[in-house]
Amino acid sequence: MARDYYGILGVNSSATEQEIKKAYRSLARKYHPDVNPSEEAAEKFKEVSTAYEVLTDPEKRRIVDMGGDPLAQGGGAPGPGAGGFAGGGLGDIFEAFFGGGAASRGPRSRVQPGNDALLRLDISLEDAFAGVRREVTVDTAILCDRCQGTGSESKADAVTCEHCHGMGEVQEVQRSFLGNVMTTRECPSCHGYGEIIKDPCSKCDGEGRVRSRRDITVTVPKGISSGMRIRMSGAGEVGHGGGPAGDLYVEVTTKEHAVFEREGDDLHFTVRVPMVDAALGASVSIKGLDGEERELTIAPGTQPAERIRLEGAGMPHLRREGHGDMLAHIDVTVPTNLDERTRALLTEVREQHGETAKVRSSEDEEESLFSRLRNKFRR
Ligand SMILES: [Zn+2]
Ligand SMILES: [Zn+2]
Repeated sequence: MARDYYGILGVNSSATEQEIKKAYRSLARKYHPDVNPSEEAAEKFKEVSTAYEVLTDPEKRRIVDMGGDPLAQGGGAPGPGAGGFAGGGLGDIFEAFFGGGAASRGPRSRVQPGNDALLRLDISLEDAFAGVRREVTVDTAILCDRCQGTGSESKADAVTCEHCHGMGEVQEVQRSFLGNVMTTRECPSCHGYGEIIKDPCSKCDGEGRVRSRRDITVTVPKGISSGMRIRMSGAGEVGHGGGPAGDLYVEVTTKEHAVFEREGDDLHFTVRVPMVDAALGASVSIKGLDGEERELTIAPGTQPAERIRLEGAGMPHLRREGHGDMLAHIDVTVPTNLDERTRALLTEVREQHGETAKVRSSEDEEESLFSRLRNKFRR
């Protein structure tokens, strides 16, 4: 059963990122272990932190909005920050909110999960329409093939750090105007790991991983929107000591299109219709993103700001059947710089038609342009 992440933070599903952040901050202040040491508070804090992490990740939030639970899948291996804050990621958020100075935690494991990586990818609207595969080069950390992540040349086990006796941190007495103050800092010998590799691997210098450039093929699904992230599980950085790789997120941005403007899965475009064509009717052809030419009929008597809908000619829906629509916005143009002959013709039309400009009154039978437009958009 999917968890109610919105309910946990007490926001509704249309909340902006700002509102989510605000709700999270106020709850985190209430339940943070430094403020409220109770067991329930710790649970609650974990819960709101997880909800915050999920709802501020566009890809995860999308899954929630589709009725799923982005943290439910996969089972065993926790994703980035999944199910708690011990793993990584979230620690940064806490530090940003409550200031540094985290209490001592003893030595950290030499084998650390790898970081997630983020890559940006620009695609055209045509690519977003049809879907596309792109080869990208990422600068990342991969497992050291010389030591297979052990960090040791001989593959011998690491030994306890003598400097900190395996604690990963050292305590120092500092003199200050407040008297002697005990401070704790990372052990400079073992860098907090509490153990030392006697014969570090010559290739990775004991890190268990090396920097490398890798070519990765990204599959962009059709219908993707600008700002969405594609998650590539395990394609992120390998961790310290050969720890499991993080995920690679590819954030897709769609370049502006010369003709179409996207809104949801609808494609809007403007047709400039000369006054005479608007009055007499005309037709214009529009090439869709699928490359197909469609005939657009401008009915006689078409008014400025009218919209013509071409059903199913818009963007494909992401991961489900069907398409949005195309919407033509009619922009009636009026000729300027008339030559003698055109002026004479239009003057004749005016005399024939017998209509002149006038201020609209509610006693007139005709609807005003405003209410006509309003009614049109209501439909
Ligand atoms: Zn040490
Ligand atoms: Zn190595």
